[in-house]
Amino acid sequence: MSTAYLLLGSNLGNRTTILREAIDYLNATAGNVVAASALYETAAWGLEDQPAFLNQAICVQTTLLPLQLLETCQATEQRAGRERLIRWGARTLDVDILLYDDLVLNTARLILPHPRLPERRFALVPLVEIAADVMHPVLEKTVAELLAECTDTLKVTLTK
Ligand code: ADP
Ligand code: MG
Repeated sequence: MSTAYLLLGSNLGNRTTILREAIDYLNATAGNVVAASALYETAAWGLEDQPAFLNQAICVQTTLLPLQLLETCQATEQRAGRERLIRWGARTLDVDILLYDDLVLNTARLILPHPRLPERRFALVPLVEIAADVMHPVLEKTVAELLAECTDTLKVTLTK
């Protein structure tokens, strides 16, 4: 059994429902979702005419291998994408693997830990809620330490 941390993001109109359905689907296909952060809102960087993103970090206990988990994450995106294709036409669910045990992987399809985690406040803020003491296997710092050192200025707001 492995422990993976995922980041979900949506900037669809009904973002909360998209995220909830994504978690239900991942819980049924990837493994047990044993922790989930609150929802955090972040302005879409560099795309001012886009709605803000809602982000949520989750912890999944899984027997899937990393590439199998990536495929499941992408299936989750496509499932939400089909709904969105009808109503909106744009891809608005993103599911990224942030950490998978203490695995370090660098392939064309999958990089672990997620390469942009240390520079993304919108990923670190939700993640610290459920994984503050988890160690980044390359940087050898905890998630809480990475957030304390993060220089990203994009505002991340807790929603109720
Ligand atoms: P982004 O998440 O950067 O906005 P995409 O969701 O379109 O963009 O992902 C692009 C590609 O990133 C995916 O097809 C996948 O193969 C690759 N990738 C590499 N590492 C990871 C990871 N840790 N989690 C998710 N996707 C990853
Ligand atoms: Mg992605």
